[in-house]
Amino acid sequence: MKLLRLLANLGYGSRKQVAALFREGRVTDADGEVLYADDVVEHARVRLDGEPLDPAPGLVLMLHKPTGYTCSTRDQGRLVYDLLPSRFRLRRPVLATVGRLDRDTSGLLLMTDDGALLHRIISPRSQVPKVYEAELARDLRGDEAELFGSGGLLLEGETAPLAPADFEALGPRRARLVLREGRYHQVRRMFAAAGNHVLALHRCAVGGLRLGDLAPGAWRPLDPADLSLLL
Ligand code: URA
Repeated sequence: MKLLRLLANLGYGSRKQVAALFREGRVTDADGEVLYADDVVEHARVRLDGEPLDPAPGLVLMLHKPTGYTCSTRDQGRLVYDLLPSRFRLRRPVLATVGRLDRDTSGLLLMTDDGALLHRIISPRSQVPKVYEAELARDLRGDEAELFGSGGLLLEGETAPLAPADFEALGPRRARLVLREGRYHQVRRMFAAAGNHVLALHRCAVGGLRLGDLAPGAWRPLDPADLSLLL
């Protein structure tokens, strides 16, 4: 791909704006040689103002979503995109969230511009486990492991029963839940079906990938080792 298109696709500006970067000699290779709009150069060797470019298409990143942010491109209020460099919103192919977390849920959110990968993770057949920790308004009843683990729980307004989920009590009002599907507000609705109410919800892992020490609001691109933990 010619460099003009590569940089425009990465969100560095319109084709006109990117053309100006080349005219100003701001795009170079790793050795400082000036590059031109029509050149075809390996992404990893290109520099803009001496800095490496944003990650190439095929990007998968994980974000530590804080509460208060929406997984949408255009809701009112704070969006998860506000936590990334502003040009990421202009990338082509589009950088999309892999499924969604509610505004009031924190934790591990994946984003990618790789449509096939996105589909593989969120497809009902993929069964990638998602690990949630919930703080609850009331003491656990004691029958949650059975209720959630046996499968067949029917959430209000739905016709298809839930798949079995792993439940572990972490305290009288704290629990871990591992889901292999992703329905709307699923964890909150499951606890509602068990006579409880979720006060706080956090996703700590997707597949074998954990948030680790990534601070709230921070993100990082995934490398092949991370990806092998996902699928
Ligand atoms: N279940 C929920 O209820 N909310 C989330 O954000 C994710 C899973």
